[in-house]
Amino acid sequence: MENLIDLDKMHFIHPTSSIKQQQEEGSKIIFEKGDGIYLTDKNENVYIDAMSSLWNVNIGHGRKKLAEAAAEQMEKLAFSSAFSTFSHEPAIKLAKKIATITPTGLNAVFFTSGGSESNDSAVKLVRHYWKIQGQPNRRKIISLKRGYHGVAAASTSVTGIPEFWGMAGHLMTDFVHADTPYGKGTEKAITSLRHVIEEEGPETIAAFMAEPVQGAGGVLIPPDDYFKEVRELCNEYGILLVADEVITGFGRTGRMFGMENWGVIPDMMTFAKGVTSGYIPLGGVVVSDAIHDVLKEKSEGTLFHGFTYSGHPTAAAVALKNIEIIEQEKLVENSRKMGEQLVKGFQKMKQQLDIVGDVRTIGLLGAVELVQDPKTNKRFSSDMKVAPKVIDALHERGVICRAVTYESTDIICFAPPLIMEQSQIDTLVDKLHDAILFVQKQLGVEHR
Ligand code: PMP
Repeated sequence: MENLIDLDKMHFIHPTSSIKQQQEEGSKIIFEKGDGIYLTDKNENVYIDAMSSLWNVNIGHGRKKLAEAAAEQMEKLAFSSAFSTFSHEPAIKLAKKIATITPTGLNAVFFTSGGSESNDSAVKLVRHYWKIQGQPNRRKIISLKRGYHGVAAASTSVTGIPEFWGMAGHLMTDFVHADTPYGKGTEKAITSLRHVIEEEGPETIAAFMAEPVQGAGGVLIPPDDYFKEVRELCNEYGILLVADEVITGFGRTGRMFGMENWGVIPDMMTFAKGVTSGYIPLGGVVVSDAIHDVLKEKSEGTLFHGFTYSGHPTAAAVALKNIEIIEQEKLVENSRKMGEQLVKGFQKMKQQLDIVGDVRTIGLLGAVELVQDPKTNKRFSSDMKVAPKVIDALHERGVICRAVTYESTDIICFAPPLIMEQSQIDTLVDKLHDAILFVQKQLGVEHR
């Protein structure tokens, strides 16, 4: 075990992590196996995976059927090209399946290996779409502050969390951010968006891109009318609406796709994560019939955009099996039902604890905010590290979860596997209650 920790320090540069902390402290948990909603580490400690790892293991861990689907496809044809006029059955079938389950009018898919590649592809595709229609100046992408869209070249700039821009320089040009409806409401957020459009010049805007629910920003669920108004605004200015469904796709919010919660149909949709429940990397961009028609008619010569693994046959075979399981086990419905139970548990907990502010869920995507005073919503100062302390207390109690602390918020995020059962929801809420109570006592806040 020690040897593994040393090797890890020496050779493995971890994604989204503090390199210094990693060197000083080493990895705290080395996961060994997964089964259902549970993860087991090298020391045989068992945890509830309350984040579905990285919001992606929607059908839960340890599904043999996915391993079998991968093995079967690998033995038959592990990989072949889909460039130019080559194709293969798993990618064709998956594209057809995705066209069937996405909202009306979204029927053609460009495949990638993950969320960042999907969002970079969406940026390039919307710019290409405008270019071939004689509007090359429509290049700008508007997105939301606190939005997260990935770490590739364009997706870093679409992201509305400034910490990500500084890592290797600064924000790329032609990316602009408008206010999120979080804490502001629809009217102010739409006014901000209209203001940005007018200020930048509507004829220079290619697309507005947003997550249906801002995930990494802290599970920020928009008001019910927000995206309807966004859709109207986009129509008014002729701007394309791109939904980043990387977290919200494949049942996470209690609907197959997040935008379905409000009956809004985007012009493009990006996906990844839940399409394979993380068993193998895969992502993509779904485009509307109107966009596809323009591409078919006006895109001349080669479309100089394609990844080696666009439509990877083995990944596609795994995705097909994963979607089959989501449908057969009615996991979208279960996500909605269990999400309602989870928020009931959060609300009950809020009655009994002194530092719980807003609690919310949409399907099995939820958050609990910790505040100094729930009546006024006064936040703790960030140096108190309240949410990270709760996360540590949760680890000790066998729950893996994530804290969001941007702009001195203390948000505990939840995205458990869509297979959650009532008794598991109860256990999760009990452990959370216990962890918050522990930290509350540490902070010297009286328990009523
Ligand atoms: N979009 C959203 C909404 C995400 O949450 C993420 C990843 N957390 C991404 C894009 C980037 O996906 P990936 O890490 O697969 O590149």
